Amino acid sequence: MTGGIRIDGIDGKNIHLDPGPGALVRSYQFGLNPLKLDAVLVSHCHTDHYGDAEVLIEAMTRGMSRKRGVVIGSQSVINGYKQWGPCISNYHLIKSQIVSLLPGESFKMGNVQITGTKTIHGDPRAVGFKINWDGFTLAYTSDTAYFAGLHREHAGADVLISSVIRPGGDKIRGHMCAEEFQKLVEEVSPRLAVMTHLGMKMITNQPDLEAKKISENTGIKTIAARDGLKLDLDQYQPKQQTLDEFKF
Ligand SMILES: [Zn+2]
Repeated sequence: MTGGIRIDGIDGKNIHLDPGPGALVRSYQFGLNPLKLDAVLVSHCHTDHYGDAEVLIEAMTRGMSRKRGVVIGSQSVINGYKQWGPCISNYHLIKSQIVSLLPGESFKMGNVQITGTKTIHGDPRAVGFKINWDGFTLAYTSDTAYFAGLHREHAGADVLISSVIRPGGDKIRGHMCAEEFQKLVEEVSPRLAVMTHLGMKMITNQPDLEAKKISENTGIKTIAARDGLKLDLDQYQPKQQTLDEFKF
C-alpha cells in the first residue's frame, strides 16, 4: 500500500513521511491518529508519495482552522519545478510553517534536524531525508537510482530505509534493485536496513528471501517492510559508552 511512513515520538513529535494515497485510512487502520501530527514530509512529486498530503495537512491543522505543524517538501513539491508540482495547494500551505529543501539543506524542528539528501529520480528535485535527533540518525533515501555518492548522503545512519523496487539484479531506471541496495547497505553500514516501496516483481518473489540474502552477504540486519510493520527505533540506538568501557 502507499500510505507512507509514520515516525512517532521523536523529541515529542510525530511525523508522517511520504503520505501517498491511503495515508489517512491506513493511519486509522493501524491505530495512528492523524490529528496528532506535527510535521508532514513529502520527498517528491509522484502521486504514490504525495496523494494524501493535503488530507493529512487538514488533520494536522484541524481542518485548516489552526496554525499548526510544519510541511517540509522538495522544491518541486512546495513551489513546483518545470512540469513537476507543486503538489500541495496554496490553500493547504497557509496554516503551517512551510519548508522547501534542496539536497544538503537542513531544517531544525526543536531538537530534530531534517536534511534533504540527493536523489537521481524522475522528479529532478526529488530529495530523501536524513532525520537526526538525540544522537540517532534515521535515513530515508526515498526513490532514487543507486549512484556512487549515495552512501555519503546517508552516512552515519542507524536505520536506513530505501525504496527497492525489484529483486536481485533486475535494474529499473530511477530506482534501486536488491543488488544495488545491498551495495548501499554495505557502504552505509547501518544497524538496520529496511526495503520498502516494493514493486510487484519483488512482492511476488518473496521479499523476505531477498532481505535474508542481503543480511547474509553484508552481516547487517536487513528486512523487507510490510503493510503495518511497526519498528521500535530504540532498539537500534547507538551503543551508549558507559564509564566501565573507559576503564583501562
Ligand atoms: Zn517516485
